[in-house]
Amino acid sequence: MRWLLDEIKALQGGGLFRSLKRIDSKEVINFCSNDYLGLSQDLRVIRGAVEAAQRYGAGNGSARLISGNCPLHEELEAALAAFKGAGAALLFNSGYHANIGVIPALAGEGDLIFSDELNHASIIDGCRLSKAQTVIYRHKDVGHLEDLLKKNPLPSRERVAEGRVRVIITESVFSMEGDLAPLEDLKSLAKKQGALLYVDEAHAVGVFGERGEGRVGRNPPEYLVTMGTLGKAFGSYGAFVTGSQALKDYLINKARSFIFTTALPPATVGASLVALTLIQSEPERRQRLWENIRWIQKILLTDQGYSPIFSIGSMRVGSAEKVMALSQQLLEEGIYLQGIRPPTVPEGTSRLRLTASALHTEVHLEKLAEKLKKHAINFEKGR
Ligand code: PMP
Repeated sequence: MRWLLDEIKALQGGGLFRSLKRIDSKEVINFCSNDYLGLSQDLRVIRGAVEAAQRYGAGNGSARLISGNCPLHEELEAALAAFKGAGAALLFNSGYHANIGVIPALAGEGDLIFSDELNHASIIDGCRLSKAQTVIYRHKDVGHLEDLLKKNPLPSRERVAEGRVRVIITESVFSMEGDLAPLEDLKSLAKKQGALLYVDEAHAVGVFGERGEGRVGRNPPEYLVTMGTLGKAFGSYGAFVTGSQALKDYLINKARSFIFTTALPPATVGASLVALTLIQSEPERRQRLWENIRWIQKILLTDQGYSPIFSIGSMRVGSAEKVMALSQQLLEEGIYLQGIRPPTVPEGTSRLRLTASALHTEVHLEKLAEKLKKHAINFEKGR
């Protein structure tokens, strides 16, 4: 297996080798988690997990379509549908599972997918698995997307009769850039062009909306399918897709990553149920998060701050090696700020990705400001 070692060496040479970081004894301030509201540490959420496990067991023993369907799954789905003002919600084991299951269920051979060039790896994998033709549009460029839609009508009349589709796919908040998709324009375009619109709200639920419901408004139209995750602002694990009851029934039958996997364990679902209640009933967490976002914006002297994700651009930080060395240095000084390299981001755009949390205190933010200043970490203006 020499080739394994050669591959590893090549990754190391390019500054692209990844290894797991373990932080146990040293105290560091975490500026790279997606636990935006700090709910993973909330004792009520933890109790929700414990009580669910005590009542239903540590695992469900099989897929939901076999014997793994537990009352908690259905309770959470009903609550999530109400939260998003949608007809129905279906749980998936993670955002990754959702994207690789739902996208191939919506689009197959002969269909067309239009995908933002900066969409997440799980969306890219979903598109690949679908066997649909995938057309990439420039990041957030609705004009470019419209041109591509016009140039790529549905393959044939028969296909239309067979119910073939075109699907536009975007993230709501882009996971690495932290910027926002032009959802209203995308909605109008999808409607005008008779296309479906699939929106990944992984980084938007809990963070945006009056009650944390995300950037896609309540009561979504029929052509709009949304996905949200439970592992980020919810502080738990899993994901959900919302749309009509017909969509849910269809996905239960067609989404392979739903059908062929063991159901989410009770503890995880129990934690999400409590987290969902807190997201809606404690808006002060969201307010605190947004205050912290504004603070970080000031520290970084940037007009970025569209979301809790700040992307400190490659221009000022440098190559993948430099980014990783800086990340390591900051860690030694008590600031945990992960470096992001290809293939997570495009070639030549390695950067530090900084995330805000409602749990950050003034002391934490002051320490961040001090260290960023010390290392002269500047900001490349976000897109
Ligand atoms: N979509 C986006 C935009 C993401 O950022 C992520 C996680 N980084 C996922 C999907 C996958 O979600 P999960 O971690 O729940 O698998």
